Amino acid sequence: MAKVAINLSTGSIQQEEVIVGIDLGTTNSLVAYIHPEDRKPIAINDQGQGTIVPSVVHFAANGETIVGTLAKDYLTTDPANTIYSVKRLLGKSYKDLGEHKNYFGYKIIDDNSEGLVKVRVQDRFYSPIKLSAEILKELRERAEHSLKTPVNRAVITVPAYFNDSQRQATRDAGKLAGLEVLRIVNEPTAAALAYGIGIDPAEEKTVAVYDLGGGTFDISILSIHQGIFEVLSTNGDTYLGGDDFDRAIINHWIQNNELIADTVNEDKHLQQELRLKAEEAKKTLSSQEVYTSNIDGTIDCHIERHTFETLIAPIVSKTIESCKQAMADAKLQPEQIDAVIMVGGSTRVPMVYEAVSEFFGKPANNSLNPDEVVALGAAIQADILAGNRKDILLLDVTPLTLGIETMGGLMDPIIPRNSKIPTKAGRQYTTSVDGQVNMKISVYQGERDLVKENRKLAEFDLKGIPAMPAGFPKVDVNFILNADGILKVEAIEVRSGVRQEVEVKPQYGLTDEQVEQMLMDSMLNAKEDVAARMQIEARSTAEQMLYQVERFVDKNGEHLTEEEIQLTHKNLQNLRDVLAAGGDKDAIYTAIDTLEEQTSPFAERIMQISIKQAMQGKKIE
Ligand code: ADP
Ligand code: MG
Repeated sequence: MAKVAINLSTGSIQQEEVIVGIDLGTTNSLVAYIHPEDRKPIAINDQGQGTIVPSVVHFAANGETIVGTLAKDYLTTDPANTIYSVKRLLGKSYKDLGEHKNYFGYKIIDDNSEGLVKVRVQDRFYSPIKLSAEILKELRERAEHSLKTPVNRAVITVPAYFNDSQRQATRDAGKLAGLEVLRIVNEPTAAALAYGIGIDPAEEKTVAVYDLGGGTFDISILSIHQGIFEVLSTNGDTYLGGDDFDRAIINHWIQNNELIADTVNEDKHLQQELRLKAEEAKKTLSSQEVYTSNIDGTIDCHIERHTFETLIAPIVSKTIESCKQAMADAKLQPEQIDAVIMVGGSTRVPMVYEAVSEFFGKPANNSLNPDEVVALGAAIQADILAGNRKDILLLDVTPLTLGIETMGGLMDPIIPRNSKIPTKAGRQYTTSVDGQVNMKISVYQGERDLVKENRKLAEFDLKGIPAMPAGFPKVDVNFILNADGILKVEAIEVRSGVRQEVEVKPQYGLTDEQVEQMLMDSMLNAKEDVAARMQIEARSTAEQMLYQVERFVDKNGEHLTEEEIQLTHKNLQNLRDVLAAGGDKDAIYTAIDTLEEQTSPFAERIMQISIKQAMQGKKIE
């Protein structure tokens, strides 16, 4: 039974346990919940501070942390102690940052022990998880303060292209902020939900979600059917957004005002003011034709909408190019898109709205606040998980195949790409050598037939298998993929109950480009892969055959004639020679067939003898 509580400030009845939805953004974060009375999602606005919490953490000299709008003020004045865009660092190694290492105004440390980056503030080190937790804590406190009830559970959104490691890091940040994270949801999925798309399981829709934030741009094409949100493709630019619009305005002012140009390099105060004015100008131009202001009463800041549009046209075009690519990857034409959804503060720029609507050939949806839409959708997902909307089941899919390495370095797929998650799948394996007591389980992700072309996620040994003849142990390998896309692998030897499991947390994961590259490679190399797979299978079959026949002859030689043994050894040697000479699969199979044809009558004969012996009360091994 659900507990209820009365909100003392409003007198309304509330569920004691509110599950909130959180949009943990690169630039801004928000928290939303479902209003207990009208059942509508609403972004929390604590004490009239607004719903948006800038994702900025400032460390004051006294060690205190400040999060949000107040912290943002320190970006220019105290950059070393003011951390922004921490989401870009989540689940990443220093190497992953590549050419963008200089993007950050604060100090990033390459910590080799974990592989993951750390941020240095004065003499302390912080993980991106810890810094994200500071933002989540602030959101949680605002929610508790506003709702006057404890908030312990949440749904948090992440970009669709976030990999395992980034999702896990987000989940860990939630935990550190004292939140039980019920689900990690894709941002475009949340945005679609906020527009009510996918709520009716009978509905089938193809949706484009265009998300232009402060520093990132994502386009996602989703196919929604039977409550399943399938990501058909994603594209974008992780270093393109509204900040570039601001910079374009600042550069315009510098170029057209000598007063600014002469002093801007040395004057921190002027830099800060220019940043603020540029953002203000941009926002004003979303609803008005002209912006006029000044800095300290002396420096004029003026810009008209058409000038602004000329400045940003190349940036907007770039996003449309990404849309084209995403559509090509999803193999869709614009007229096949049922709805276009606008997400992110920068979609308020009229030129952006028009360019996107024109590209898709239909007016984009922007009736919901683009800053809030992801958080609102997360709140709806939270409500579903709370069991308040029993008829809905939301599922995501896994982007790449998961499997294990089998004989000869082949990939044995266990959970195929695009499987609905959560899911569980398994397969039974056995040993190939008599008395084998350990079995190595190597877990891979990717579409190629050979594991060496895929990405290794984990490796572990199932130890303590009781010694048995080859082929006797039964090892169940199970893959359990939870709703966040985090994989658990367990191996159990069924006869003995020996068991081992690992949670797969790759040190750092794949970028969206890498995922795309892996899919691309698998398509381009499909033919070669099949040939390689057949060759390896032939060799493995041969090795298996050699082992079995040798063992058979050793054990049952007494029932064979001298001639039969001679001929068997000759055919065994022939097969070994073909393998040693690197023979192709046809040559290998010819040698296998010869050996098999010659030795198969033996099995029948031994069977007869063993039946006879069994009837006499004797056993053969
Ligand atoms: P993120 O998802 O990356 O955290 P947001 O979706 O919150 O980012 O978008 C923040 C960006 O939106 C900022 O660059 C901000 O200046 C811009 N923005 C907000 N309101 C407007 C507006 N009215 N017109 C143009 N840009 C806006
Ligand atoms: Mg966002």
